Amino acid sequence: MVTLRLSRTAPGLVEVLGPGRRFVLWVQGCPLACPGCMSRDTWDADGGGEVTLEELTALWRDFLDLGATGITVSGGEPMEQAAALADFLDAARDVAAAVGCEADVLVYTGYEEDELAGLGPAALRLADSADALITGRFRVAEPTRLAWRGSANQRLLPRTPLGRQRYAGHADRVVENTEMQVFADDQALLLVGIPDRGVLTQAERRMRGDGLTFGGGVSWRP
Ligand code: SF4
Repeated sequence: MVTLRLSRTAPGLVEVLGPGRRFVLWVQGCPLACPGCMSRDTWDADGGGEVTLEELTALWRDFLDLGATGITVSGGEPMEQAAALADFLDAARDVAAAVGCEADVLVYTGYEEDELAGLGPAALRLADSADALITGRFRVAEPTRLAWRGSANQRLLPRTPLGRQRYAGHADRVVENTEMQVFADDQALLLVGIPDRGVLTQAERRMRGDGLTFGGGVSWRP
């Protein structure tokens, strides 16, 4: 049985990590250790939890029913689980097509485009499964307002006709204000999006002033 190790999936449609309304999944495990990474809780390859491709495809079907128009794969480092992810994306496309949805796929990777071949055929297959890639390590010293990116070096690369249609206009698009989405339950707050530098620490401080603390810690610190 093929499984993926995930950090989490977004509990609702996301509109801040790619165009339209998206199903977002964060894979578990990243060896790149970018200083200043805001997702340090995704680094441990043994963390998170396992999900079968069947379970994940069923979840995607639910999101299609809610009106999803695409899938964003973030992490963690997707290339660490490239073969299973490519299998999932193939299945997800078939499921979407069956209900008349031309869903696009955006994959974030910390690798540069010219590093992918060196990772092996599975990484190339995953890259080919994506309509667009966002590539490159996160560099804390290079803040940016480029859409959907965490640092100015990261590149948005459309790779298919659908990718060019939906993403080409965003490759150099600069956003005025960073957009974040918040999901909450009685256990945790999930902040989705790419925050400006210092915003998370400021928010934490402000909440502490209001008597709110994060008992289980935060994902952006070790
Ligand atoms: S920013 Fe991305 S690539 Fe870099 S360490 Fe964090 S999860 Fe890995």
